[in-house]
Amino acid sequence: MSIPVVALVGRPNVGKSTIFNRLIGERLSIVEDVPGVTRDRIYATASWLNREFRLIDTGGIDLSDEPLMNQVRYQAEIAMEEADVIIFVVSAREGLTDIDENIANQLHRTHKPVVVAVNKTDNPEQRMQTYDFYALGHGEPFAVSGSHGTGFGDLLDAVVASFPSDASHEDDDKTIKFSFIGRPNVGKSSLVNAILNEQRVIVSNIEGTTREAVDTYFTAADGHSFTMIDTAGIRKRGKVYEKTEKYSVLRAMSAIERSDIVCLVLDAETGIREQDKKVAGYAYEANKGIIILVNKWDLVDKSDKLFESFTKDIRKEFQYLSFAPILFVSAETGQRLNKLPEMLVTIYENRHRRIQSSLLNDVLMDAVAMNPTPTDKGRRLKIFYLTQVAVNPPTFVVFVNDKELMHFSYERFLENQLRQSFYFEGTPLRLIVRERE
Ligand code: GDP
Ligand code: GDP
Repeated sequence: MSIPVVALVGRPNVGKSTIFNRLIGERLSIVEDVPGVTRDRIYATASWLNREFRLIDTGGIDLSDEPLMNQVRYQAEIAMEEADVIIFVVSAREGLTDIDENIANQLHRTHKPVVVAVNKTDNPEQRMQTYDFYALGHGEPFAVSGSHGTGFGDLLDAVVASFPSDASHEDDDKTIKFSFIGRPNVGKSSLVNAILNEQRVIVSNIEGTTREAVDTYFTAADGHSFTMIDTAGIRKRGKVYEKTEKYSVLRAMSAIERSDIVCLVLDAETGIREQDKKVAGYAYEANKGIIILVNKWDLVDKSDKLFESFTKDIRKEFQYLSFAPILFVSAETGQRLNKLPEMLVTIYENRHRRIQSSLLNDVLMDAVAMNPTPTDKGRRLKIFYLTQVAVNPPTFVVFVNDKELMHFSYERFLENQLRQSFYFEGTPLRLIVRERE
């Protein structure tokens, strides 16, 4: 089931980012050692009545070099392209403005559902003003207050009721979905084209059902089917905002969400940059399979020494991606790109591997014998049982006497034991610790 995307639009200062933070609430997860993931967020998962959706704050896409009217116009354009449902935020404090009307007109050109949120209705008089916003022509306006957290139930009911019903279409297929992500100019679109030439297969473009994404579907010689997910940089249309970092992050995040495996593309010539780490952090946080592709390998002196030092740098800068294989490739010459499909298949299989509980508990017993469980204030961690509860990614539940006694380092140790005993290259593993008497 693909998850619907909801975008917040509206002129500056109406309260979009306040509402964004309110809606994602505590769901904002904090990942240790992963840089830049939670700061300046404009894309996150939220839910209402057990319906998950992704939320975009278009106001967070920095277009400050542009005149105000253009900023607002581009942000609305992004929302119309990326989202299934649009929340159009206005403010009861300032009332209806020309810019609001302008945005309303622009939104009339989309066939996507628009729900009007009248923010800053902190008191009854301001709630009365809500009705003025019927004039925008986008149906019933909903009074909310971002600061007080009121009114969001009705608003979200309306949003959820507008979700497309055919959103499950794209996940019905059994193809291996992958994407190339990375900062601008590392060679993502060159890689897409190189893969297609390499594969010499029939290519068909599938129109995205909800977003106007164009994904590419192909079948490799060995019969496996793949879907290459469209990302920023692949369909450049010369729009102003395509050059902004936030927009490219936004596109990368939506591609990551829709992929089984993401190929994090680095540039051999420029080396690792700060922005690479940010993008890698997003991929890691989404629990997807990961391959690190070092592209433009044709441009560097391919000595064994460089190969080793690059590998060492990657392992040092992306410690949390130690499970990800590294492939040195060139989109220009096609070098080693033939290895990519088989690597994708292997990781896909690893992500879907199920291990019997009896085998898991053999590994657990050996692990505990080798490295006794930690103690705290005279109490020792007892591990009763380990079982796999899900695939894609492989997810395990470990039952213990006291969660507090399970240290991060011991979790890491168990994960490593699992990795050594079973083949999980390229995929993160999830370990859930539960207490049992
Ligand atoms: P954005 O530019 O649309 O993202 O707006 P912000 O979320 O940054 O909010 C702009 C200002 O409005 C901030 O000072 C917020 O504290 C304030 N604000 C947001 N929601 C409310 C609200 O419900 N009531 C009041 N009184 N102020 C709000
Ligand atoms: P994107 O922004 O990540 O999609 O990057 P592009 O695919 O547009 O590539 C950026 C530039 O790098 C272009 O000029 C490409 O021709 C060049 N490029 C991409 N891959 C390679 C490669 O493997 N070798 C060389 N020499 N140049 C490459």
